[in-house]
Amino acid sequence: MTDPGAAAASVHHPGESAPDPVHSRQDDALSAGDGGPRVVVLAGGVGGAKFTLGVRAALARRGAPEATVVVNTGDDLWLSGVRLQPDVDSITYALAGVNDTSRGWGRAGDTERVHAELQEWGAGWPWFTLGDLDLGTHLARTGWLREGLTPTQVLERMARRWDLGARLLPMTDAEADTIVTVRDTDGAERDLHFQEWWTRHRAALTPVRFGNPGIAAASPAPGVVEAIAGADVVLVAPSNPVVSIGPILAVPGMREALAAASAVVGVSPIIGGRVVRGMADVCLTAIGVETSAAAVAAHYGARRAGGLLDAWLIAEEDAATAPAVEAAGIRPVVTPLWMTDVDASAAIVDAALAAAS
Ligand code: GDP
Ligand code: CA
Repeated sequence: MTDPGAAAASVHHPGESAPDPVHSRQDDALSAGDGGPRVVVLAGGVGGAKFTLGVRAALARRGAPEATVVVNTGDDLWLSGVRLQPDVDSITYALAGVNDTSRGWGRAGDTERVHAELQEWGAGWPWFTLGDLDLGTHLARTGWLREGLTPTQVLERMARRWDLGARLLPMTDAEADTIVTVRDTDGAERDLHFQEWWTRHRAALTPVRFGNPGIAAASPAPGVVEAIAGADVVLVAPSNPVVSIGPILAVPGMREALAAASAVVGVSPIIGGRVVRGMADVCLTAIGVETSAAAVAAHYGARRAGGLLDAWLIAEEDAATAPAVEAAGIRPVVTPLWMTDVDASAAIVDAALAAAS
């Protein structure tokens, strides 16, 4: 079966008012005449996807080359013999226009027949639904990985199915799944895969720490450092600072690449002192960071003091935190940060690009 979203996506991108010529195949990304800024985005899953849709729209309007999106792979896991990449898939599906927008994850119109059968076998995790269409993605990916393709090569192959209007790169080709250490009632520490902690326990077990075993030996995926070096600006999406952006920054070599970048501008995932959606506040508390726009900015740190950011977009609701951001050596920019639709996300990107210049 072909999927109706794919045909639609090849005509014009969902949520954008008109087909944009920049994405046509004969007009390849970095050809002469691409006037606008070269942009790299660091992103997690659903928040990262909403932001990336805005990046694509804002750059298309400028006639700029397609952005490179460096995606968190700390969420990745093996389940029932297949490799899942939840954040990579969230962004891919959103750019392709085949994501389930009401549920917030997976494919639109998916069914769960295979999941039900896996339950009958007692295989997999009952609390982690694998949709049938989604499973097709995981099977294709796992097959290619077993044939010897790297995660970067697999993602490149998967991205060819749709006209995504952005280049997606995993943060690393190494397996560096996020592990959450929790403390049991008897005081003993126990390690859980991030997905078990997040999805099964809904982050209700108090985390002691987050880690990515294997990351010390990892390196940025091919093309990541080059993209950052060639970018006019790196945008840090309003993704979970601890378990989405955190693993990306933990890849050895990533911080050095970002320190040498032309400009780095971040967008606050906190609005009005609260996380917009999800449980990022639990993650922040676990690492001793208050759930506020200023505290997250200070956690990322000022680039001129060895940290990540030159400028930080904060919501109007958090305007009072601007002096604290400034005091941390980061330029605060107050602007609406609700990503209610593609135009709203694109307006955030416009503000971020303006902050970089
Ligand atoms: P996940 O990997 O699916 O959890 O998604 P991300 O890590 O990419 O993004 C999750 C973060 O996005 C949450 O911490 C939210 O606070 C943030 N977020 C979601 N919607 C919005 C929005 O409309 N505006 C802003 N500024 N942040 C948002
Ligand atoms: Ca995620």
